[in-house]
Amino acid sequence: MSIEGRVALVTGGSRGIGRCIVETLASNGAKVAFVYRSSKESADKVVAEQAEQGREVMAIQGDVANKEDADRIVKEVVEKWGKLDILVNNAGIIRDGLLATMEPDAWDAVITTNLGSVYNFCQAVMRQMMSQRYGRIINMSSVAAEFGNQGQTNYAASKGGIQGLTRCLATEVGRRNITVNAIAPGFIETDMTEAVRNAAEGEIKKRVAVRRLGKPEDIANAALFLASDESSYITGHVLVVDGGLTLGGI
Ligand code: NAP
Repeated sequence: MSIEGRVALVTGGSRGIGRCIVETLASNGAKVAFVYRSSKESADKVVAEQAEQGREVMAIQGDVANKEDADRIVKEVVEKWGKLDILVNNAGIIRDGLLATMEPDAWDAVITTNLGSVYNFCQAVMRQMMSQRYGRIINMSSVAAEFGNQGQTNYAASKGGIQGLTRCLATEVGRRNITVNAIAPGFIETDMTEAVRNAAEGEIKKRVAVRRLGKPEDIANAALFLASDESSYITGHVLVVDGGLTLGGI
């Protein structure tokens, strides 16, 4: 996959799927900046490990839900490396609970972090990508956008919103050689899914056609493809990476 010399920005790169995307893009020749909110120790470790391999990776602290932070972060990347080719909107949270008793804070936090951040960062990179007539935007959705999971009204709304935003933005910027796609991961082994895994890993595996949970690498490899020159004729697409979970077979 050709991403040699590209400049990438990944939100939520300190842990989990985002961290693996940072490592995958950097190991394929991109300069990679990533955003973290609170995991400074993990973020510093990612940067140090990548530097040991001779790769250019930098960590920037910020809250993706904050528009001013998004503008500041994008400006810092462009000032440092002169361009921005790839944006991966990966940062996300869950605050599960039944709608009947969901506090406004749980609704707002999930919508602004998961969906608001995509607006914030897409808009922040737009002028740069349009002027350079090149861009690859990858938004992290979820199979939860399609499932009727109890307790996930806020999360499903945010991830469904990302899919709609992805399709609309793809039509707005395609003529500028900017593609916009989403990935819908299934059940991936990260901190986010630890509690559910502990409670029901065996049951979940039975529902996955390939009979295993996903690894961050499964998502990072899909992101690498969508970030590469080779995916130039794919836009407005939601790539499901779930081992067959949503096929519904048992
Ligand atoms: P994770 O392990 O919990 O990591 C979340 C990452 O997002 C961390 O790097 C975290 O930074 C960052 N983050 C969260 N809120 C932020 C904020 N306000 N500002 C800046 N950074 C923030 O999650 P994951 O499982 O890797 O999930 C990554 C993405 O994939 C999410 O969008 C998630 O919804 C989606 N997804 C995951 C699965 C799955 O099975 N794991 C399935 C479908 C979709 P800090 O460490 O600094 O807090």
